[in-house]
Amino acid sequence: MANANVLQGFACPKCGSDGPFLMSIAVWGIATVYDDGIDYNEMRVSETEFHDLGSCKCFECDFDGYTPDFQGVADDLKIIRKGEGA
Ligand SMILES: [Zn+2]
Repeated sequence: MANANVLQGFACPKCGSDGPFLMSIAVWGIATVYDDGIDYNEMRVSETEFHDLGSCKCFECDFDGYTPDFQGVADDLKIIRKGEGA
């Protein structure tokens, strides 16, 4: 089933899987910061971003690439599948 939320448009360029993927992400949030470190257990995540040069790995086939390699692939697959049906 095609992704319609966080992974919308994402698919593995090798096997076509629509996830999940092991991805590099950047997280923005609020945490308690002490002199000797940050308490991530109490962290409240407010925003998550994909990193353009971050790695992205497919659990299905182990394909290892960059996040942009996976972005938009779902749309390309849709076009190919439509073409095959015609
Ligand atoms: Zn894959």
